[in-house]
Order: sequence, then C-alpha cells, then structure tokens
Amino acid sequence: LLTSSPMSSVPAKPDLVTVNIDGKEIAVPKGTNVIEAARLVGVDVPHYCYHPKLSIVGNCRMCLIETGMPAVDPATKQPVIDPATGKQKINWGPRPQIGCGTNASPGLHIRTNTPLVKDCREGVMEFLLINHPLDCPICDQAGECKLQEHSTEYGRGYSRFVENKNVKPKRTQLGPRVMLDDERCILCSRCIRFSKEIAKDDVLGFVDRGSYSTLTCYPGRQLANNYSLNTVDICPVGALTSTDFRFKMRVWFLKQTNSIDTESSVGANTVVWSREGAIYRITPRRNDEVNDTWMADSGRLLYKQVASADRLKASEPVDALVARAASVLQGGAVAVVGSGRSSVEEQYLTRKLAEALKAGVSLVARTGQGDGLLISADRNPNVRGALVTGLISALPATQLTELGAAIDAGKVKTVVAVGEDLRAAGLSEAQLAKVSVVYLGTHANATSAAAKVVLPTLTVFEKAGTFVNQQFRIQKFAQAVPGLAGATNDLVVLAKLIAAVGGPAVASDLSGIWSTISADVPALAHATYAKLPETGLLLDATPWSGLSFVEGETLHYKPAQAARA
Ligand code: SF4
Repeated sequence: LLTSSPMSSVPAKPDLVTVNIDGKEIAVPKGTNVIEAARLVGVDVPHYCYHPKLSIVGNCRMCLIETGMPAVDPATKQPVIDPATGKQKINWGPRPQIGCGTNASPGLHIRTNTPLVKDCREGVMEFLLINHPLDCPICDQAGECKLQEHSTEYGRGYSRFVENKNVKPKRTQLGPRVMLDDERCILCSRCIRFSKEIAKDDVLGFVDRGSYSTLTCYPGRQLANNYSLNTVDICPVGALTSTDFRFKMRVWFLKQTNSIDTESSVGANTVVWSREGAIYRITPRRNDEVNDTWMADSGRLLYKQVASADRLKASEPVDALVARAASVLQGGAVAVVGSGRSSVEEQYLTRKLAEALKAGVSLVARTGQGDGLLISADRNPNVRGALVTGLISALPATQLTELGAAIDAGKVKTVVAVGEDLRAAGLSEAQLAKVSVVYLGTHANATSAAAKVVLPTLTVFEKAGTFVNQQFRIQKFAQAVPGLAGATNDLVVLAKLIAAVGGPAVASDLSGIWSTISADVPALAHATYAKLPETGLLLDATPWSGLSFVEGETLHYKPAQAARA
C-alpha cells in the first residue's frame, strides 16, 4: 500500500484513499482510521481506549494528532501553491484531532510528531498519572503496561501535582476470575465495550464522576461470563488482573510459544507463557480469520492438565512397553479407536497402525452447546484432520455403539485406544472386560486402569503438530514445555508400535512425517509443517462439503464486523 510518488500523481484504486502521514504518502482502504493508517507506515500513534476489534469512543485523548487538507482557492478551485516550497499549501486545523476517530479521506494530511502533539500527549499523561498509585513494583502489568511504556516515551518525566492522591479500593473481585484495582484504572472503557459488544454480557459500567469515577458491575451482577479474562488482556494498565495469574510471575521472564486452543473445533490461536518447564498462563493470539484477538476463559486453564496428579508415567522404557503391546496385538481381531483430539500427524500414524493391524477405526465425537463465539458445538479440535488424513471417512458418533456390538459378537478381541477413554465413550465395564486394551494416553481413567499395556504420552503443550479447525484451516502448535519424564511423544510411540506389529518403517519426527503425508494425502499435497503460516492455511474442503458437522456450529466467526455493524 505504501506509495512514494507525489500525492497528486498517486492514482488510488476506487476503494483506496491516499493520505499523507508525517510526509509519507500511503493509499489505505476508505474508512481506515489514522491509528491504523499510521501503523502501515511504521508510525506508532499512542492510544489507550482504541482497540481494533471494538467500537471507537475517543475518550482517552492520547492519540491526538494534527490534521490538514490541501488548500484550494474557493474562487478558482485551483490548488493554492506555497511560494516557499513550490508545493500545494496545506491548511492545518487550529486544534488537534483524535486519531482513532479520524478516518482517512482523500488528501488528508496528518502530523503525529509536532510540538503541539507532543504537548497534548504530555498533558494527557500528566492527567492520567495524577491519581495513579505508581505501584509498578507490585503490579502484574509491569512489563506489558501501556501506561508505563507511554509515560517513558511520551510523558513529561516529572509531576507537578502536589496534592494528595485520590485513594480507591485495591482489590475488588469483579467476578470469579477477574480482580479490579480501582486506582490503576484509567477509565478507557475497553472492558465495558468488550463485555457489551463481544461477550454480549453488558455487565460493566462506570459510576460517580471526575476523579471519583470507578468501574463496577451492575448491582447484583458479576463479570462471570466465559470470556471475562479477555478484559484482563485488553486492559491497557494493571487495573484488571487474572486471579489465576496475579503475583505468580513477572512477564519478562516468560517464554512465549504459539499454540491452539483444543476446547473445540474453532481452534482459537493462543500463546502459552512458560518458564523453566512450567506454564503460567495462556492468552489469545490475534488471527482475524479465526478468533480475532479473543479466547474463552475455559481454554486458559487447560495448562493445568500438564502437572496434574493423575498424569500417566511409565516405570519401564518405552521399547519394553511397545514390545508388550505388540504381543497383545498379535492375538488379532483388533479395533483401533482414534481421537479427534490427536494432531493431524498422530491421526496419520494411527491410520498407518490400523492398516498394519488390518483393524477398523472408530472415532469419538464430543458435542455440546455452541456459544456462538469461540466454543463450537463440536468439542474436538481435530475431527476434520481425521477426515483429511483418511483415518475416518464419515463423521464420528458420540458413543462407540458399533464397537460395543462387535465386542459382544466376539468379532473384536483387542482394542488400541489412542487417547480416548472407552468407558466414557460408551463401552460398558463388561465389554471392556472382554477385550485386551492397549492404551495410549496422558491421564489415568477407567480405560488406562483396565488396559493390558499403558503407553503414557504427551499433552498438547509438550509436543508440536497441527489441527484442522471448523473452517478446514490447518493450524500448527509448537512445543511449549518439555515432556513429562516417563511419558513419550505420541508420534514416537505410534511409529514404534507400527514397526513392532510388522508395519512399514515411518518417521516419528514432524519433518519426516510431513514428507510422507504430503505425498500420501491429496488434501495436504502442498503443505509442510515448517512452511505453514502462523495463522494457518485454508484447505480445500470440497471433498467433505456434503457432510453436516454438528448442528448449530459457528463457522467463520467474525466479531469485529459484528461490533462495528
Ligand atoms: Fe480500561 Fe482497564 Fe479501567 Fe477497564 S479497568 S476501563 S480496561 S483501564
């Protein structure tokens, strides 16, 4: 979009308008506000209340800029030329404007770094800090606080305020997961707009006036919806903190790893924050095609499964366990139960294992009420992956009724369960007792208790791979923390098992598996793990277009447009 020619000679496309920002000309889509337009030319216009996915209110005044329009002689309609420069004169406005509320219009000139703009920013910062407690040393937001950053970059550096600060409550529980520190709040209203516009839970508002204004819940209400923690993410200061994360760790010590929320088929993009093998929090990662900048609260606590007390750990080497599993599987009459929670790569190897064993494959569907936002009715993250990789050819049922009947009829004597609890999936205790089970999984359950051989594997946070979401978008997740001692990567276990039962030698590392997958799976012929963009790659879903997944499922979630509409 960046152009370098003089404005008059830049032919903007019909839906583009050309503006000048600090002397640089750029063609931007009509309606783009100055903050976003400036971002495109690498200019940061500081702001607090503006958020790209929320409505614009213009109440923080931090993004003040100067605007002007090329001068035209009213009588002749000819450009007025400045004799000093030989260029068209710009009529600058007498007062600054807010960048968030100023949209690009043809010929608009913007100045973001003049003495007037600098003065405005210093003034706004000074007002914001008048009653601010300046408690950065004990504030969770330190390190990612806009107030801290902007006061260093745009503030005056000293305060002229000599009166006593207005003291407000430090610990107001707004809901089960969100704590408010009233005196840190800069009244930007992002949290209020998020609750109303995105979460559709209009529960927050301001009461009282001036310095006494405070954020609060409506009487008798709580900020308890399943999206409440997004307010913590977008609060530009440390006013809203997560009860799960507060006071646990300084953010600058944490490593960030891109991951995917496994709660449902939406596949919200996430960041896992960890240090020395321990995960401290999960936050959303922006992907405008999938989840904008949001995620559900429920997905943020999934990291607790990594260190939970019921994790499965092996007390003998994986090779010995695989050898025992192979001898169990020699009995024949095997059925394989794959999982919509496994990654694409694991599902591909599960298919190879089933082929080597000449076994039928079942998959367990999980469904629930879709919330119309980021939790779909399909609660598996990767059923579509199982279709794409050819592990299954039809949609799974919620209960393993057919497998149960085959066990009762004596047609199945052994079951390989990959990450699925067969009891929870509908097999009775009696049916489970009739078969020999080889179980690959992360946590103890009725199936692991009944299994002849248990092969402990890794959680999504301890390994890398891909999922195919409800849009048939293949998205990758990376390994955030090392695997638990006594558990082995699922791909390694599956590859060893395939070899042990007489199947082909298959790679157990991602790049090796992807060379095979690309050659073997038509839908993934042009994909490789390494080359997948962080925001995913939309696959051609035509082969599965006739399948109706779960009724009521939300496809192509677009909250940003909804908020603006
Ligand atoms: Fe803004 Fe945070 Fe105050 Fe909400 S709590 S109004 S997000 S500063």
